[in-house]
Amino acid sequence: MPFKYFGKINYTPYTKVSKFADELHKGKLMGSKCKNCGEKTFPPRADCLKCLSGDFEFVKVKSTGTLVTFTTINSAPTGFEDMTPYTLGLVDLDGGGRLLSWFENTKFEDIKIGMKVKVIPRIFEEVEEIKLYYALEKA
Ligand SMILES: [Zn+2]
Repeated sequence: MPFKYFGKINYTPYTKVSKFADELHKGKLMGSKCKNCGEKTFPPRADCLKCLSGDFEFVKVKSTGTLVTFTTINSAPTGFEDMTPYTLGLVDLDGGGRLLSWFENTKFEDIKIGMKVKVIPRIFEEVEEIKLYYALEKA
């Protein structure tokens, strides 16, 4: 995939998630865990969706999961037109949490609901910010 597409799926300013990006460099996915109620989220959120607490810690997230559903995009939104067709998958991570990403290096015929997938972090650094996204591959 060409560099110019990096960051289109999961763009996050570096300063807000430096720990998150640091771990991604090592190929590790990090989620957040609310210190107030224990709710886990991925990607990490500074504010808890459940209790609205802003007190959180980073926790390691398993990068394997199960494909819940998927769809192939033939008519893409602005900026993605030249990527079509591409396939998005919704994944329940093995350790909890759910994410949406697109498949890379996987044949369409091989994609099936319930299959095991792994989440591959991709990262692209520029001078002032880091852009990142995840790709799915067949586990
Ligand atoms: Zn909470």
